[in-house]
Amino acid sequence: MKPILDETHDPRVQSWVESANTAGSDFPIQNLPFGIFRRKAKAQEGVGVAIGDQILDIAGIRSENLLQTDANVIAAANACVVHSPNAGARDHDSSARPSLNPLMALGTAPRRALRHRLHALLRSDAASSEQQAISRHLVRQADVELLLPATVGDYTDFYASIFHATNVGKLFRPDSPLLPNYKYIPIGYHGRASSLVASGAAVRRPSGQTREGNADPKFAPTRALDYELEVGFFVSAGNRLGEPVPIHHSAEHIFGICLLNDWSARDVQAWEYQPLGPFLSKSFSTSLSPWVVTMEALAPFRAPAFARPEGDPAPLPYLLDAADQEHGGLNLTLEVSLLTARMREAGLAAAPLSRSNFRDLYWTIAQMLTHHASNGCNLLPGDLLASGTVSGPDLAGAEKSARGCLLELTTRGANPIALPNGEQRKFLEDGDEVIFRGFCQRDGFRRIGLGECRGTILPAVLN
Ligand code: MN
Repeated sequence: MKPILDETHDPRVQSWVESANTAGSDFPIQNLPFGIFRRKAKAQEGVGVAIGDQILDIAGIRSENLLQTDANVIAAANACVVHSPNAGARDHDSSARPSLNPLMALGTAPRRALRHRLHALLRSDAASSEQQAISRHLVRQADVELLLPATVGDYTDFYASIFHATNVGKLFRPDSPLLPNYKYIPIGYHGRASSLVASGAAVRRPSGQTREGNADPKFAPTRALDYELEVGFFVSAGNRLGEPVPIHHSAEHIFGICLLNDWSARDVQAWEYQPLGPFLSKSFSTSLSPWVVTMEALAPFRAPAFARPEGDPAPLPYLLDAADQEHGGLNLTLEVSLLTARMREAGLAAAPLSRSNFRDLYWTIAQMLTHHASNGCNLLPGDLLASGTVSGPDLAGAEKSARGCLLELTTRGANPIALPNGEQRKFLEDGDEVIFRGFCQRDGFRRIGLGECRGTILPAVLN
């Protein structure tokens, strides 16, 4: 499906919410990402849209009768005020809460219609009566807690960066880093949805089984805790059990994207992963950024699919679509930085570790979704799919600067990285905070951002 460019992407449009017009803001009027917020003062939760340093409370402006324009906008606005049990994390709390699942379930048209309506209400030439009414329902981002955007029933993690797969494969199989299936199958595994946490939540160092050389296996806190820089994407309308999603319809089933940290215990992973793949080395925590940037907002930044080198096989027909090859990629810059406890105490800024681009993935998100459903597996609204670690090619003069995890950056701990304050890291230490950022920019368009995904490591619970 060709990305649609319309007036919501016009870079000249500014918002009457002044902070949205600041150069470098992640949330100009051209973005309008969705999330779930809780007012710190009132413990009241709702669907919000980020604009500058503010959040637009959708339930609030709905109550002002500003979202009664057409059937699609009304449907989307109604979906934003449905409270369902057990939203957010699937924890012991069964109270009804808002989530983006009902909006996701509606598919593309209502979401796009709501975007157009919000754009009209927030632009600087909106009627002053509308501006006044909306002002009553703006909340400062500093005054809220941002929660998980959806109730995620299933979480699947792919392995779509050929650079990551090659770098990691080299550590284990120097002669044949890529397994024979890699260029045919978007490789993935089933992750764990219950341990998804919102950005900012602490991550407890897990314990697990490891084995060094031929020594007896032992159970202890991991000594090789790592992050994985990934992008998550949410399923919007699902597919019925037994009915695959054709590749040319795949884009209609994707709601939007966020940043995702697939924390990994490498020593546990190395001992447990054969023959069925990662298990406890990954399932202890996965962090998500709170704002979901819609596929509509990303339209100007779509890019051709990865150019397969001469000699690589073409995707099998069920994964091959001309429009997806032309527009299925995404020019999204991704950055990792690290703030250690010592740096925090000294008041230092986080140290940049890597920068990579989502357009370097071997598989498109449409191919991942279509492959997932190709056996008839039903995907449901709010299901979360993740790209796998986003690494890029090693660049001359900036060796390893595009590697999206420490396993690759330090060659499995053999070459520690040096931080600006003199500290070194092979893997993460207690007190380390990992920060991901992502943004899209292109000449002739307004830059949009994904915000941040943060997580700080807590010491293991000894058992
Ligand atoms: Mn991963």
